[in-house]
Amino acid sequence: MYEFAVTPAVTQIRRRGVEISEVSPGTIAAELELERGDRVMRVNGRVVRDYLDFRFHTAGETDLTIDVRKHTGEDWELNIEREESEDFGLLFEQIVPRQCANECLFCFCKGNPETARPSLFVRDEDVRLSFLYGNYTTLTSITEDEMKRVTEQRLTPQYVSVHATDLDVRAYLLGVDKKRADISDKLQRLMDAGIDIHAQVVLCPKINDGEILRRTINDLAALHPRVTSVAIVPLGLTRYLNDPRLTPVTPEFCRETIQQVSEMQRDLRARLGATFAFLGDEIYLKAGHEIPSRKHYGEYPQIEDGIGMVRSFANEFEKLMRTVSMCSLERGLARPAGAQVRPLNEGKAPLRGTILTGTLFAPVLREMMERFNDRIGSEVIVAPVVNDYFGGDVSVAGLLTGGDFLAARENVRGDFAIIPRVAVKSDDPIFLDGMRLDDLQKEFPVPLHAFDFDQLASFLN
Ligand code: SF4
Repeated sequence: MYEFAVTPAVTQIRRRGVEISEVSPGTIAAELELERGDRVMRVNGRVVRDYLDFRFHTAGETDLTIDVRKHTGEDWELNIEREESEDFGLLFEQIVPRQCANECLFCFCKGNPETARPSLFVRDEDVRLSFLYGNYTTLTSITEDEMKRVTEQRLTPQYVSVHATDLDVRAYLLGVDKKRADISDKLQRLMDAGIDIHAQVVLCPKINDGEILRRTINDLAALHPRVTSVAIVPLGLTRYLNDPRLTPVTPEFCRETIQQVSEMQRDLRARLGATFAFLGDEIYLKAGHEIPSRKHYGEYPQIEDGIGMVRSFANEFEKLMRTVSMCSLERGLARPAGAQVRPLNEGKAPLRGTILTGTLFAPVLREMMERFNDRIGSEVIVAPVVNDYFGGDVSVAGLLTGGDFLAARENVRGDFAIIPRVAVKSDDPIFLDGMRLDDLQKEFPVPLHAFDFDQLASFLN
């Protein structure tokens, strides 16, 4: 039993106001002698609970009264005049996430090894983080205060895990009663207030697939355009998440789902002018199916959820190939069929190295790199890395850990190794298993780089 399943969702008990974490020199805040550790309590008489409140209460205001509790315990009232666009020069403490009160069958927290970092067990369910970072909430325990906040501060869009519009199925998946599972009124209220919704379905074979999925897509499509898109991503099982009620996602299941949803997408595009319901990249890759075109994804509304990442990567790769071709032409390296390949950097040793990535994406990337090698005479190979940390059917690059890369070290060839940047925490170079990037780098026989696509492209180019 997970601890949050038996507790109501609570906002962490914390001190009033929001703490300043940094003051930039030469700014209004520095002039006012604000310091790290001071707390902003009110702006123009309105309570400040976090930096979103501060942002909201100060937006567009040129005359401000700010109540501050200094770290020394003194209370200051500051009267400020500023230009509308003038920045205060303040950074604030991070938002402490509100926790969920669900007991989802497939909760990722249950899929972690016990030794995983404590932060991987945080079951956040927070409309603020949904707005700021695209985190999904289920809305099952959203409070009246939070509803008011989303609408008043226009925290749009919101990312909502719907999973199924059939209430019995939704309640079963979330591990809550039907009353709590029913969010139809809440969704309607948010939409009436002009809040856009991006929905998510975690697709679990034999639970919310087939007719349940069809109904979910159709019910949500009826709420378009306020419900802007639906991301359908496959259940991911690790060796620790082995609930017998869950059925693994197989290539055959992926093929059936693609067939079912492709037909609906054609109809949706004709009716709504948008694909609307998107299948996760993982579903296409597992099925061995071609990834849809750029047009299919429109503005890539849920790319962070693995919807269109491969298409976006492939398109960027084609741009890289065109650049390489241009360089080759400029250097007289255009190669008629059958002609000898010469390296791009003539006179220098050709690029020789290894890109390490997840087993799902590796075959796609290998094909791209073979074309690239063929074009410029490099020898960059792609080595798939098995996810031993989570095990199960986890095969995406973003969940690979330091230990997994270390275990794949013997497959590295050439003068460098590249791993996907997405496997490393964005604000701190650390992997999901707690290994630090610099520690991994010390263990590699060649320079090891963690690159996103742009970094990879400029390295190769
Ligand atoms: S999957 Fe999300 S909503 Fe469900 S129990 Fe886990 S953290 Fe809560």
